[in-house]
Amino acid sequence: MDNLNTEKHCPNCNGNEFEEAIDFMPIKPKKTSLSGSNKIYTFCLNCGEVASIRIENPEKFR
Ligand SMILES: [Zn+2]
Repeated sequence: MDNLNTEKHCPNCNGNEFEEAIDFMPIKPKKTSLSGSNKIYTFCLNCGEVASIRIENPEKFR
């Protein structure tokens, strides 16, 4: 499987310039009071379409 994410295209405008940003508020595990983890948004610099949202430290939720 040749699925390198260096070659991404925006589904909305087909642009290929992306930037990452984090939200103001971290996301927190529901079941514990441990500190949360940042949400990282990857968005198109051309039209603003969010290509992905991921959690910075998913292992905190195990
Ligand atoms: Zn776009």
